[in-house]
Amino acid sequence: MMRQYELVDRVISYEPRANEELLNRAYVYATQKHGDQKRASGDPYYSHPVEVAGILTDLRLDTASIATALLHDTIEDTDATFGEIEKIFGREIADMVNGVTKMSLLELSSADMAQAENFRKLLLATASDVRILLVKLADRLHNMRTLHFISSDKKRKRIAQETLDIYAPLAGRVGMQNFREELEDLAFAEVNKEGRDLIVERLDELKQDSGDMLEAIAYEFSALLGENGIKAHVHGRQKRPFSIWRKMQNKSISLEQLSDVFGYRVVVADEAACYQALGVLHRNFRYVPGRYKDYISTPKLNGYQSLHTTVIGPNQQRVEVQIRTEQMHDIAERGVAAHWTYKDSKADCPDTAKIEPFTWLQDMVDQLKNGGSAEEFLENTKLELFNDQVFCFTPKGRLIAMPRGATALDFAYAVHTEIGNSCIGVRINGLKLPFRTLLKNGDEIEIIRGDEQLPSENWLNHVHTGKARAAIRHALREREAADFIKLGAQMIDNLFAAEAVDSSASVLDRALGVLSFDSMDALYEAVGRGTISAADVLLATMPKKALRKRDRFAGAMRGLIGRPGKVGQQGAAMIPVNGALYGTVVNVAENFFPLPGDDIVGIVTPGQGVVVYPSNARELAAFEDSRERWVPMEWDEENEQLFASRVHLTAVNRTGSLSVITQTIADFDANITNLSLIHLNEDFCDLTVDVQVRDKEHMEQLVNALKGSRVISEAKRVIFGGATEK
Ligand code: MN
Repeated sequence: MMRQYELVDRVISYEPRANEELLNRAYVYATQKHGDQKRASGDPYYSHPVEVAGILTDLRLDTASIATALLHDTIEDTDATFGEIEKIFGREIADMVNGVTKMSLLELSSADMAQAENFRKLLLATASDVRILLVKLADRLHNMRTLHFISSDKKRKRIAQETLDIYAPLAGRVGMQNFREELEDLAFAEVNKEGRDLIVERLDELKQDSGDMLEAIAYEFSALLGENGIKAHVHGRQKRPFSIWRKMQNKSISLEQLSDVFGYRVVVADEAACYQALGVLHRNFRYVPGRYKDYISTPKLNGYQSLHTTVIGPNQQRVEVQIRTEQMHDIAERGVAAHWTYKDSKADCPDTAKIEPFTWLQDMVDQLKNGGSAEEFLENTKLELFNDQVFCFTPKGRLIAMPRGATALDFAYAVHTEIGNSCIGVRINGLKLPFRTLLKNGDEIEIIRGDEQLPSENWLNHVHTGKARAAIRHALREREAADFIKLGAQMIDNLFAAEAVDSSASVLDRALGVLSFDSMDALYEAVGRGTISAADVLLATMPKKALRKRDRFAGAMRGLIGRPGKVGQQGAAMIPVNGALYGTVVNVAENFFPLPGDDIVGIVTPGQGVVVYPSNARELAAFEDSRERWVPMEWDEENEQLFASRVHLTAVNRTGSLSVITQTIADFDANITNLSLIHLNEDFCDLTVDVQVRDKEHMEQLVNALKGSRVISEAKRVIFGGATEK
């Protein structure tokens, strides 16, 4: 175990002005708090935080991070509290220790749902201070190094799998390749020991066959570059078992076919020398087509820069070569930790200024803020962590890195949410293509935008990134709400107009308080959705207003709402054929919707005058024995009013259907007075729409138009809307 003075010396070696006293205090506090607690290995517990701090000195992190590492398990595992740590070490360190503690909860649960929830917290915490993530990764690395001491098979497997799923990719994403590789190999040995053993065996064979070829090739490269005036450090290494295994999986190659297991790093003075060195190697060795990658002009999201190529080396063996400058090498080794150092140092480093190490974390956080379920999030996260990237350009030449599998629509959302929402088409390299087209490296993407926001449910099938998915869901929800607001406003207007009541804002405002709504939009939306009726709103503004019986009934049933004109007008359009009952009140039977053009008949009803039914109504059977009450009726051709009527619709259940329906009805000069949702499932919804139309013919045209719409699978006029019809 590293001693107290050793740890402090290591920090002083790269940060001469470090607060020694603080480090000593943290060291002593940790050893005292953990006391005689033991690790599974039998070592005293405090050796663990000290080792974690040691790992972080390799990354040359600041005093606060090292102190956090020393204290990282005290809140969780000892009687130390946030308040005490804050008092002794200050707010910054206390917050960081707290952040690491929260992340550790992740390891306590194995259910996917709970993990994702905690993983959210993890990311949100790290986005506020990336050093918390670095401490956590070092903690995990030390735990993986000592994993074999844990006796439970199940526990070891779970920790190793979690390392492969979450922590190793996270380390990779923040650019810490060494962390990533070590985490992967330690986990690999636990999750698939046989696989790893086979690869290690094969690697040993290759090493014996080729003798000290590894160094020989490094020497040859270095000499060759020297002859061409390029000063370079060349370092050869064997690839890690896990990265070989992954390659075998991805490319379906067998162990025997495995040849390119050597990798070389060529570190040169500056960027120009990188390209010169590449030229020298390509002129002297046959290079393998398709393997050259220029991460200098287009760095990875995590800021990684290098030239990659594969050549057929001196012994006719494939070797991979990475060419980079000293600083690129530092960033490749230390990743976000290096950026963090440069970001804080006074000397602003021009090479790193263009790299944004935090964008990836920030994207994750944006995605969380846009909602979406935790499971979905974990799925997307795993997906995105494992995917490689493709680089695409905007028409102005801005470079955007996208995960492999992303579509042009994803690209639009990556540029800006508004651009995604208004996307109506794309041009890729000048060609107009569907926006579900998969992106390829180097594509130039121009997004064609429309005036209106148009995301549809269907778009979810055409995107790959969590960011686009979350943004589309958000837009769909907003648009649906807007539709209901419009509809509700229209229904309220209709009713108020029909009742000749003032519907100015000052009157409607009264309803907000009575019905407990925060805004008019919320009220309109509730009416539109049918949660409350327009009649409820009217009564809330004018409690003394006597609504006609039918309207009260309607209010209670969330049924009919508005009727045009004066009371009785509808009946006034119906005239007894012989005129004998002139002056008698004529009413339409409750729940019937006859229209001019339909055959009708009146029944004299005590106290209600003449009640009119369609001639084919089954209800008429009840009056079969009292024919004296029957009055032949006909429609008044002079009357040009609109009539209440009803349509039953089965529509495709998706956002936008509603606006197609309301628009179609408006286009046919009919008014909607009410809309109720009868039945709803994933694919379809059954709706009853009350409309005002001129006559039977007008209604037939409207029904035919609705039937023709792509969102409606069935449309039927309803003549009897009561309970006795099937
Ligand atoms: Mn720990």
